[in-house]
Amino acid sequence: MEKNFILRILRGIPGNQYWEEFELPLEPFLNVNSALLEIQKNPVNRNQEHVAPVAWEQGCLEEVCGSCSMLINGRPRQGCAALIDNIIGATGSSVITLAPMTKFPLVRDLVINRDIMFENLKKVHAWIDADDSFDRGFGPKISQDLQETMYTLSTCMTCGVCSEACPQVNQNSKFIGPAAISQARLFNSHPVGKMEAKQRLDPLMEEGGISDCGNAQNCVQVCPKKIPLTESIAVAGRQVTRQAFNNMIHLPDTKK
Ligand code: SF4
Repeated sequence: MEKNFILRILRGIPGNQYWEEFELPLEPFLNVNSALLEIQKNPVNRNQEHVAPVAWEQGCLEEVCGSCSMLINGRPRQGCAALIDNIIGATGSSVITLAPMTKFPLVRDLVINRDIMFENLKKVHAWIDADDSFDRGFGPKISQDLQETMYTLSTCMTCGVCSEACPQVNQNSKFIGPAAISQARLFNSHPVGKMEAKQRLDPLMEEGGISDCGNAQNCVQVCPKKIPLTESIAVAGRQVTRQAFNNMIHLPDTKK
């Protein structure tokens, strides 16, 4: 006999959100995004009303772009990596709730605006300046250990799940969030990137910087890429302290 499941989705626009349910046949290996695609083909809710298709974002479909981040049964994660079978198996319930993440401006239905994640990367200079006007050769050697650490840090997809889970990221705080701090660590680890470490660390001393971390450690629990975010925050914290002393010693000469 065909088994069905229910997607209970928080829909709407800012100031006008409502729950709507859709019933779908349970198929093997169906993930949340595929289920949303099924609804898109035939957007009829459980009351048999023809409604507007549910809006959500997706890109890579393999947990690399981060665009399908949402709350699935209250937990921030990617829809592409959430298998319906597994969720039902874990909860014992055939009702699955989907909601937009709450720490980002709502656009519509499950779509939120993650611009702040990218603005925060700009704030901490999360890149290495490259000038292609000269031959850089092979570049400095990097140990195997450091390469492995940097690789893990580089898998961040700016999905925003860590910020969603962080109690310090809220309307009353300017906290930059764990992802940007971890990216500052990544680029400060690189022998060339190190040269601009000050540009990454100075913004982390400002309001909303590293001292706003409350050590809740939720970020590291939810990161789909298993990035050691609390370790990154500790490493960046030590770098910020050293930089603060350096800044005191090398005060700009105001007499000039
Ligand atoms: S650190 Fe992890 S949870 Fe945070 S944005 Fe990057 S991939 Fe997503």
